[in-house]
Amino acid sequence: MNEPLIICENLVKIYRLNNEGGASVEVQALQGLDITVKDGEMLGIVGASGSGKSTLLNVLGGLDRPTGGRALVGKQDLGRLSARALDEYRREQVGFVWQQGARNLIPYLTAAENVELPLTLSGQVGRSTRERALELLELVNLRERMGHRLEELSGGEQQRVAIAIALANRPKLLLADEPTGELDTVTAQTIYDLLRDLNTRLKLTMVIVSHDPGIAKHVDRVVAVRDGKLASETVRVQKDGGEHHVELSVLDAAGRVQIPREYLEEFEIKRRVLIETTPEGILIRKPEGNHHEGEHGNLSGEQIAAENEAVQGQSSLSRIWESFKSRMIKGIKK
Ligand code: ADP
Ligand code: MG
Repeated sequence: MNEPLIICENLVKIYRLNNEGGASVEVQALQGLDITVKDGEMLGIVGASGSGKSTLLNVLGGLDRPTGGRALVGKQDLGRLSARALDEYRREQVGFVWQQGARNLIPYLTAAENVELPLTLSGQVGRSTRERALELLELVNLRERMGHRLEELSGGEQQRVAIAIALANRPKLLLADEPTGELDTVTAQTIYDLLRDLNTRLKLTMVIVSHDPGIAKHVDRVVAVRDGKLASETVRVQKDGGEHHVELSVLDAAGRVQIPREYLEEFEIKRRVLIETTPEGILIRKPEGNHHEGEHGNLSGEQIAAENEAVQGQSSLSRIWESFKSRMIKGIKK
């Protein structure tokens, strides 16, 4: 694994919806996401529904344009490509696999005919079309089923046909959005095995979105997306003679880190925390005497901000002094 193929920096995607009243509503699907994917890497993405996984894939695949930040694939800055160049990028350099892979396939055509169809539509006609279709079906280990109508194939086999079609343009990058979402565990396993095999044989970089946290054992690395940002990354470590997966939180470019909600609940942490250094590392804990937690009592916004900053350790005595002074001055004005 070598150079990065994908670099996303502070990637933002905002959807604007016009509701019935004519007012527009904004959805921030990606909120400053940073990620790098190496050439040849097989990356898994997990995250709750609505966290922005599909949006990220759509941006990487040139189906959607970023609203802000950068998305580089190879040397191409997707946000800056002309509509035509983006179109070409999507057709020539990316392969897509969807959850319902068979959705765009035709049930009464054979596997081979289904693969031939997009080849023909993209202008690859003649005897070679059939040969190429068989070659693609070979890649997904389905050649012996080439003459079967799609409706005669199992869900897993249908997904293989869809993968064969995704490979037709010899992409460098394969994007898969919950490719095993509708399959049972055993079949899902065979699809992951196939994807790994293609990753190795074709040196194909893959980004695979999944609902299944168990995806970690099938890919090189798993990242979790939360609220449109990268929240954590699961890496493999060798320990006690075995392989383990460890989930690490990810810092953003400004050094912010997201604390898992369940930890906040467990330690009854609400708006503010104490951050202290210990010989072991950095300790984040609930401040003592949490009396203004939740509601702000009769503190002013400014006072809260000043106290917050002091509590968060971002500032020092001078900040507290400023806060004190401003309270005094307000007192005098009254
Ligand atoms: P995921 O794939 O993780 O479930 P999505 O990327 O599909 O999440 O969606 C992220 C957020 O963006 C959601 O709030 C979703 O409703 C919104 N969203 C996604 N696509 C569109 C779109 N085309 N128009 C408007 N909002 C969208
Ligand atoms: Mg999705």
